Amino acid sequence: MDFKIDDRLGEVLYDEPMKNHTSFKVGGNAKVLVKPNDESSLVEILKLVKENNINYYILGNSTNVIVKDDGFDGVIIKLKDRLNELNIDGNTIYAGAGASMTEVSDFACENSLEGLEFAHGIPGSVGGAIVMNAGAYDGETKFVVDRVRLLNSDFQIIEKTVDEMNFGYRHSIVQDEELIVLGAYYKLKKGDKDKIREKFEEFDRRREEKQPLDLPSAGSTFKRPTGYFAGKLIDDSGLRGFTHKGAGISEKHCGFVVNKNNATASDVLETIEIVQKVVKDNFGVELQREVKIIGE
Ligand SMILES: Cc1cc2nc3c(=O)[nH]c(=O)nc-3n(C[C@H](O)[C@H](O)[C@H](O)COP(=O)(O)OP(=O)(O)OC[C@H]3O[C@@H](n4cnc5c(N)ncnc54)[C@H](O)[C@@H]3O)c2cc1C
Repeated sequence: MDFKIDDRLGEVLYDEPMKNHTSFKVGGNAKVLVKPNDESSLVEILKLVKENNINYYILGNSTNVIVKDDGFDGVIIKLKDRLNELNIDGNTIYAGAGASMTEVSDFACENSLEGLEFAHGIPGSVGGAIVMNAGAYDGETKFVVDRVRLLNSDFQIIEKTVDEMNFGYRHSIVQDEELIVLGAYYKLKKGDKDKIREKFEEFDRRREEKQPLDLPSAGSTFKRPTGYFAGKLIDDSGLRGFTHKGAGISEKHCGFVVNKNNATASDVLETIEIVQKVVKDNFGVELQREVKIIGE
């Protein structure tokens, strides 16, 4: 693929190793990686890509993806830190898709608005959190979203209400239709800054205690199977600390597949398959991946 993007539309990198851009620190080269300047640049880039029949993939902060070792033969459009405006109107905050969830929750706290405490520490972007209906500690994106601004396949900006987003467990309509999240309106409640900050500290401490934050990963690798916990099934299968080539299961939290030692994407994907097989053999439960895979 020989395709160029005008660098007036954003930061453009060619043959860019995706392991430098993903939280798992694995993945081959993207032919093109572009970080658009703003919404209109994003639309221009998408038009170019589609006119030329080029594959593209939208990323937020790449904390829930594995890019395969052969890379991506197309254009990866990364939004983190790009469409990242934060505005407030009464109890409603608008956050652009590229803002991080921690930035949005900090902004809510500065404005004495509660409801987004759960999101402090989720390393993804607003866009990724909408797509995945990200959640933690009894909080969930769908509980605080009022409506979402989206770009549809005709390059029109539309809005969908929370009900129209079809939020479910780690799911939203964006996974089923050709939509790009531009930003989200969060409806929050007046609260006390100090209490909100205490919640942040409590959740940060719990993450620090329970999660292997010192090793590259994409967080919980598997969805929670109905009636079970993925981490417990993996632990009960004797896989705590299991190592496969450069990857393996965290010693600290069995729900996390981690990059232990310069893993390749194949090491990670093989680890996932081994774990799925062992758990299926032991308990008859099929672990579904939460993490998305990019590449052929
Ligand atoms: C240490 C660690 C802890 C984590 N803890 C949690 C947790 O507590 N709770 C939780 O839910 N998740 C957690 N995660 C997983 C991850 O952070 C979330 O899934 C997050 O919502 C992903 O956001 P992202 O911006 O990184 O998305 P990406 O990984 O960049 O993308 C994920 C998916 O969303 C799509 N996407 C991203 N942005 C857009 C957009 N603007 N428009 C359309 N599609 C888009 C991508 O195409 C992809 O399919 C954790 C991850 C790590 C590494």
